[in-house]
Amino acid sequence: MVGRTEVGSVLPHRATPYLNDDNRAFWTGGREGTLFIHRCQTCAKWIHPAAPVCRYCHSLDVAPQPVSGSARLATFTVNTQPWIPGAAPYIVGWAELVEQPGLILTTNLVELDSADVEIGMRLQVVFEKDPVHDIWFPLFGPEEGDQ
Ligand SMILES: [Zn+2]
Repeated sequence: MVGRTEVGSVLPHRATPYLNDDNRAFWTGGREGTLFIHRCQTCAKWIHPAAPVCRYCHSLDVAPQPVSGSARLATFTVNTQPWIPGAAPYIVGWAELVEQPGLILTTNLVELDSADVEIGMRLQVVFEKDPVHDIWFPLFGPEEGDQ
């Protein structure tokens, strides 16, 4: 069992992502509290991870758009192996965004206890600021009212 984890307490540090024109909105949108996901302007499918071409219709007309940040937990695991020195046990989950079936972010679950985690539970995005860079890691906690 993992005790309640708060935003900023999951890992002692995270790898800094390399920003490019495709993923910049995803990694910096948390500054305004908004999760951005790439969307094809031709077939309207959401695409994650962001890419310069739509994986469904091969259109090059893709761009980041805001999503609600609401998701359901598709699956999860509790990591107790201290792969990173100083890291406490933490929860890795697949957050399936409500905008599209199969639109999944692999993320950390926070603001809950591992004993309270259930597949299918409703989640809401929260952001963890990188301590140095203007990068905001999207994590997921329980949606208000679902705890
Ligand atoms: Zn498309």
